[in-house]
Amino acid sequence: MKQFQAESKRLLDLMINSIYTHKEIFLRELISNASDAIDKIYYKALTDETINFNKEDYYIAIEVDKENRLLKISDTGIGMTPQELEDNLGVIAKSGSLAFKQENEIKDGYDIIGQFGVGFYSAFMVADMVTVISKAFGATEAYKWESRGAEGYTIEPATKDNFGTEIILKIKENTEDEKFDEYLEEYRLRSIIKKHSDFIRYPIKMDVTRTRLKEGSEDEYEEYVEEQIINSMVPIWKKNKNELTQEDYENFYNEKHYGFDKPLKHIHISAEGLVNYRAILYIPETMPFDFYTKEYEKGLELYSNGVLIMNKCADLLPDYFSFVKGMVDSEDLSLNISRELLQHDRQLKVIAKNIKNRIKSELEKLLKNEREKYEKFYETFGRQLKYGVYSDFGSNKDTLQDLLLFPSSKEKKMVTLAEYVSRMPEEQKYIYYAAGETVDRIDKLPQTELVKDKGYEILYFTDDVDEFAIKMLGVYQEKEFKSVSSGDLGIEEEKASEEEEKDNKELFDYMKSILEGKVKEVRASKRLKNHPVCLANEGEISIEMERILNSMPYNEEKVKADKILELNINHPMFNSLKDAFDNDKEKVKIYTDLLYNQALLIEGLPIEDPVEFTNNMWKIMS
Ligand code: ADP
Repeated sequence: MKQFQAESKRLLDLMINSIYTHKEIFLRELISNASDAIDKIYYKALTDETINFNKEDYYIAIEVDKENRLLKISDTGIGMTPQELEDNLGVIAKSGSLAFKQENEIKDGYDIIGQFGVGFYSAFMVADMVTVISKAFGATEAYKWESRGAEGYTIEPATKDNFGTEIILKIKENTEDEKFDEYLEEYRLRSIIKKHSDFIRYPIKMDVTRTRLKEGSEDEYEEYVEEQIINSMVPIWKKNKNELTQEDYENFYNEKHYGFDKPLKHIHISAEGLVNYRAILYIPETMPFDFYTKEYEKGLELYSNGVLIMNKCADLLPDYFSFVKGMVDSEDLSLNISRELLQHDRQLKVIAKNIKNRIKSELEKLLKNEREKYEKFYETFGRQLKYGVYSDFGSNKDTLQDLLLFPSSKEKKMVTLAEYVSRMPEEQKYIYYAAGETVDRIDKLPQTELVKDKGYEILYFTDDVDEFAIKMLGVYQEKEFKSVSSGDLGIEEEKASEEEEKDNKELFDYMKSILEGKVKEVRASKRLKNHPVCLANEGEISIEMERILNSMPYNEEKVKADKILELNINHPMFNSLKDAFDNDKEKVKIYTDLLYNQALLIEGLPIEDPVEFTNNMWKIMS
């Protein structure tokens, strides 16, 4: 007996002991594998003239042997060599799902099945023993793979006439809680197939028992068996929208493994004109577990007139819509096209542009008509849109700017830029923003005081990418963006008298010399109302950007924001400072250190020398 690879064994254990309530999906998984296997031959035949493909020869069959509790799913697909039996069924390919499981310590396997689907192994949710008899296309020998679960599996020669694969499940005995018998009932199997596999392109055949009047008799009935095709075989994207229900779209989404949540929204496109294509696109409700990892591949399934030619066609989606799942089918695309050529295909480019515009307009519609749903979407994928504004030198900002949302100082709700601008008072020159770790923290920043006092709204940036994206945007509806920490806020304020300026200048210059290299300037603040001190900044790089850029691991050259220490000259603190300046210069040093470090703390920045800071505090106290 051969051993399963460790991860497979764990997954099998999960399956066998699963308390998952939708066990019926095992059939969907096995039928979907069978259909893929036929696709592989079909595709071969289309690109290789020596292979004949007679449609009638290709089907999936479901057979039941109630007495022996056997359920058989067979296909006339490409089959597997013994090596492939070993590689495909002894080793789990989707290692990502298990890695994820470890992190989250999912106990009963419910989530793993619900979220990822598990293909072939799901058979073990309903079967004690699984036998796979397969003959690879072009081979002369058939082989049997068999397993009773986690202990291991065997592979040995077998007999089978035609190429293809048979999967035989020995259905579990009923338990107190669960009736496995149902997977041996014709009507139940039929309804599972109808529900999950109706759109499979190949016929799913099953013998169905019916009754009829006995010949020559008027009241005696007899049973007879008739082979029926259970599925409608029309792919969902070729159907009319009005024939389809929400549930149909959701089932297709799950069946295709686009996601195992419910999609937040589906978009069904049938375009005729310059290019003809049909597409079903989905915006997932939850973020794929690997979305922000290197492993995540964006893209849509690409079909040429019903035949799958690529699993993830990346050229169909811009990066900022990389969360979109789904498929595109076009009769205008050649089957033989290579990946390299496809990139330059004119038709494909037109389709991609079309799709991009459609996703954009659907998101705009969602924002306009179903705000709550949009905000939910934005919470999950909004970051991607902001990256989109920032990347490619801002070339997509026009597409994306009206999809952006930010929390704001007014009502602490999410607002669009258009909403912000529409309620700007006449005299307000800029769109104000403040950056920080959380909405609460930003809300308390002293730098926001004057702007708020004026009754102006402030956008709160809590995402690392926010300020970068906004810098790229530059202006919105001809209004410039302005950080509340920036040198000139564009708000008219009373000026200090010349005498005061001169007086303070000496003090400020002295403080600047104490803070040599740390701040560019020390000055009287126009923006502070109640707080004694804050940092402002000038130049392209803000204090927040400095923090973000310098925390990136690959950024070796550290950047530096031009910091300005601003003091509130109307605050009682300032009198003590002036007093010290006239009488005790040592004290000014201590005050300066304290004020500077306080400003850093308010900003959420680490203070440079905590020991000195606490020593100074202690000196002042005594
Ligand atoms: P997935 O289908 O997601 O790759 P599975 O665990 O369901 O994962 O199947 C693993 C692999 O086994 C498939 O990718 C395929 O190569 C092979 N396989 C499964 N069922 C069949 C079948 N009926 N005919 C041919 N190959 C199959």
